[in-house]
Amino acid sequence: MLNISPIPAFNDNYIWLISNGDHAAVVDPGDATPVERTLAERGLTLDAILITHHHRDHTGGVKALLARWPEARLYAPAAEPMPAPGGSALQEGDRVQLAELGLELAVMAVPGHTLGHIAYHGQGLLFCGDTLFSGGCGRLFEGSPQQMHQSLSRLAALPDETRVYCTHEYTQANLAFCHAVEPNNPELKKYLQKVAKLRQQGIPTLPSSIGLEKAVNVFLRPHLAGVRAAARHHAMAELNEDAEVFAALRRWKDDF
Ligand SMILES: [Zn+2]
Repeated sequence: MLNISPIPAFNDNYIWLISNGDHAAVVDPGDATPVERTLAERGLTLDAILITHHHRDHTGGVKALLARWPEARLYAPAAEPMPAPGGSALQEGDRVQLAELGLELAVMAVPGHTLGHIAYHGQGLLFCGDTLFSGGCGRLFEGSPQQMHQSLSRLAALPDETRVYCTHEYTQANLAFCHAVEPNNPELKKYLQKVAKLRQQGIPTLPSSIGLEKAVNVFLRPHLAGVRAAARHHAMAELNEDAEVFAALRRWKDDF
């Protein structure tokens, strides 16, 4: 049976460990040490490393892991530097077969946070790197607001029950921003309370789900009248297109 668990790294990163029996894959291993420790504790063999984008806190452990596990396959975006030699360069529509895990994932191009950023989805799972966070989205380091809005819209179109494995524990701070934009969203109020309890106990708030994010995450809600009105008020601008509302929300959040 497929098991997915977070390996905490650095201050607030999660490296997702996907395992089945004694086989495993990891997503975005920014640091090899906690991954090695977890593999050893659980008696797992590393078969694959999946990378969503080139940032160091997502790729920094790749070389050390491949030195220890030379048979492991590396998958990374075609449009960004390969974090180690010999990896498979992936783009929109490619499929990743993790036969030992009984898992097949499709690749989606989701530019915005970085230009070559990809996400992996399949079997009700989504590994979206720094594109979608619970209650938020990645900063626009390389792409345009239009690109990020388009990428998030594609993720939002996945089935509601899709489980969303984000790579940072930013949920509580993100929800404070969502609450500033939508102070009267009842789903958001409920989720804020739940997240506060989880964080008090040091429990990860992830995975989320597409259905939950559509209900609480303002970056997936720029088409709604209340969100648009709040963004207009804050930006003091007309904001006619959803992508313009999204861009105003992203700028607002950058200074929040
Ligand atoms: Zn990043």
